[in-house]
Amino acid sequence: MSGLLPVEEAQARLLALRSPISSEKVSFSECVGRYTSDNIFAQRDQPAAPVSAMDGYAIRFDELPGPWTVVGESAAGTAPGRTVNPGEAMRIFTGAIVPSGADTVIVQEDVAVDGAALTLTRDGPGTRGRHIRARASDFAASECLLPAGTRLTPGAIAAAAMSGVDQLAVGRRPRVAILTTGDELVQAGRALTASQIPDSNSPMISAMLASEPAEVSLPHHVRDDRPLLAKVLKDLARRHDVIVTVGGASVGDHDHVRGALQDAGGQIDFWKIAMRPGKPLIAGRIADAVLLGLPGNPSSAFVTATLFLLPLVRHLAGARNPHPAIHQAPLATALDGGGARRDYLRARLENGRLTPLHSQDSGMTLPLAAANALLIREIDAPRRAAGDVADYIVTA
Ligand code: AMP
Ligand code: MG
Repeated sequence: MSGLLPVEEAQARLLALRSPISSEKVSFSECVGRYTSDNIFAQRDQPAAPVSAMDGYAIRFDELPGPWTVVGESAAGTAPGRTVNPGEAMRIFTGAIVPSGADTVIVQEDVAVDGAALTLTRDGPGTRGRHIRARASDFAASECLLPAGTRLTPGAIAAAAMSGVDQLAVGRRPRVAILTTGDELVQAGRALTASQIPDSNSPMISAMLASEPAEVSLPHHVRDDRPLLAKVLKDLARRHDVIVTVGGASVGDHDHVRGALQDAGGQIDFWKIAMRPGKPLIAGRIADAVLLGLPGNPSSAFVTATLFLLPLVRHLAGARNPHPAIHQAPLATALDGGGARRDYLRARLENGRLTPLHSQDSGMTLPLAAANALLIREIDAPRRAAGDVADYIVTA
């Protein structure tokens, strides 16, 4: 189908609309899920000296199988008081510095102790250096631990803390406005007439952004009224980095997002993508804000938010790899061939196998509750048999 932008090209153009916002220094309590602005280098060796990995006795490997005389102890938090000389062993605990002279640790389960006399009762360590963590074996001073644009998971925060800092420069969280459009929409939970429906897209999109580094304001709503929409867009653009509209993106008489964007002084960068669902996606700029116009059908909004909104937010927040990862798994059932647009089939990944959900109607919401993956079917893809490997994105 001509005139439709391939997904990857559209994603690249969307991210090119604005560079990452800016950086700020934050403490660990505020940085989970955010992206490092700079390379994080270790300020120190970890560990700073050889330490024991077990509770036991520090000895010289060449003196195995002993016996030894126990001279003092080395516990975590204090330096060992002396050297281990020939014939000697030192009591040692996990995390304690290995005294000079010793090169191996025997675990306490392998020995018998009688006063200061230490004897081996089992095989003992088979190699020199056993149960010792060498200096800098975790990381060395000046080593790059986290490259710029790394997502700060709890594990990454642990590495940063161990590196010797207590604050990190991270990308500022983009301010995101969600704007629903449509005369038929009513806030979820309110009374409805037969011609009205609850707004399911704003709670869904808010939930999708909840684990992302974004400052999401309370959702806004406008009727299908182009001048009003233009006014609201202009106003939201003053206070947000991203405006994500939902609905009104297509060609119907009541689809006003493109027209209103232009009326408000904004520019459209692209419209219409070679994907299903989600073809009428709009991207543009209004003042400094990026406008992303998602189609209103719940599955279309979900798929386009996954492929465009989340990467945009991550990119603005400083991510190096903002796009959802693509994985491979075998199909549990046969799959019909693809069409003129790339399909993102709502699917279930169970026991390592992918099953597209029975209904792929983009107007449905219930399949979204069942789906935990988007199964990707390329343009004009041939029919696939059960067991063939397919690409997918994890969504839940
Ligand atoms: P539109 O993109 O405005 O043409 O809307 C396409 C379909 O999605 C219509 O059936 C709308 O009623 C529905 N829709 C639009 N916005 C929402 C929303 N926020 N929540 C649930 N359904 C919506
Ligand atoms: Mg509409």
